[in-house]
Amino acid sequence: MDEAGSATYIPPMIAAALAPLRALWGRSRRRCAQALEVAAPALACAWRARRERQRRKLELARLRATYEEGVRQGGLRRGIVPRAVHHELTSRCNLSCGMCYQTDWRAASPRLELDVEALHEIHARLLPRRAVLVGSEVLLHPRFFEIADELASSGCELHLLTNGTLIDEARAPRLLALRSLRAVILSIDGPREVHDAIRGGKAAFDRAIRGVELLRKQVELALHCVLQPANLASAHEVLDIAHAHGVRSVHYGFLYAYTAAEVEATHALLERELGWKRDEVELAITTGDGLGFGVAELRACIERIEARARELGLHASFTPPEFREHLEAYVDGTLHVGRRLACRDLLEPDDLRIDPRGKLVPCAVIKKDLGDARSCDPAQLANSAERRAFAKLVHEQNLLPICRRCCRATVLPER
Ligand code: SF4
Ligand code: SF4
Repeated sequence: MDEAGSATYIPPMIAAALAPLRALWGRSRRRCAQALEVAAPALACAWRARRERQRRKLELARLRATYEEGVRQGGLRRGIVPRAVHHELTSRCNLSCGMCYQTDWRAASPRLELDVEALHEIHARLLPRRAVLVGSEVLLHPRFFEIADELASSGCELHLLTNGTLIDEARAPRLLALRSLRAVILSIDGPREVHDAIRGGKAAFDRAIRGVELLRKQVELALHCVLQPANLASAHEVLDIAHAHGVRSVHYGFLYAYTAAEVEATHALLERELGWKRDEVELAITTGDGLGFGVAELRACIERIEARARELGLHASFTPPEFREHLEAYVDGTLHVGRRLACRDLLEPDDLRIDPRGKLVPCAVIKKDLGDARSCDPAQLANSAERRAFAKLVHEQNLLPICRRCCRATVLPER
């Protein structure tokens, strides 16, 4: 998911006052778009693709400029004002997906949960205008609605990533009552039997579809599907599922795959260059033997997806889009050869990632304590020498060895 934003700064009180209007505008726009999609799906599809191309061109130019500014200023641009947050609310999950990059980390940190008091403290200092609530499975947090209510009542725009299995008749209305809930992304990895096999059973498909049905008419909803060996033959069918349930967008993600050698090389680099000892850095990853598929299978899968999206008039996107454009390099793990790479999280450093302990961490994968968000000034945390040095290293190295199949990796355009 492309999560970060960089709109003009709006003071929190004005943002709170504008929240209902923005929600109304969002709903009206969504209804117009839906009407166009029903009346003229091919036209809507072409219009969306054109808009997406323009958006991406502008975004890449902006990322390139931000990257160069960061390089000139020692790793990150100076004077970062934190305005957004990714809250990792819990390390728990009710599923056991075969491809989950967090499995090993979760086994080592089985129950970490952000407490509501910590949220009060962080929120009072940070006053974010945008919060992405993530887990593992975010709805497992026992006080999820208190947290979400507090953020929403200040006008903070909320985004939610979920496996959807816990969105039932009791929770759905409470979610929809969050006045600044902007978007929900819900995972579906294939038809029922494929999805359940990937997600460890537990009627995961039927429960997720119940969530889709309960939410779809009242909030911007997209499906997310990770391309992996078990669903390459059927990933295009997620579009049929979306179509059958009135969802207009499917985001396809590329599988993370980490080898023990990449992990070792990353730890060695962090220790040598930044003095980060291994026991200070948790990597939220699961190592394996590689992707388990070749480029031909992946290309065929993507071509089926693109063809089906055109037929149905739906929006299919790939995250990151650069992997779609460089499939061989993604599969071979050679994206860094002959290309200038950057990490989107580091190019959008006004978005702080706070782990379940209330600590600022560099990103979803690299869990190093960069300071306590409950007690430190957010601007100091965002602009710290340690965060700057990390960004400098990542970009000097053309990304770290474990970054090269990360969804936040981006290929910068030539100057
Ligand atoms: S639902 Fe998400 S966090 Fe939970 S096991 Fe699956 S991929 Fe991992
Ligand atoms: S590219 Fe590297 S630094 Fe950036 S989010 Fe991914 S793992 Fe973290």
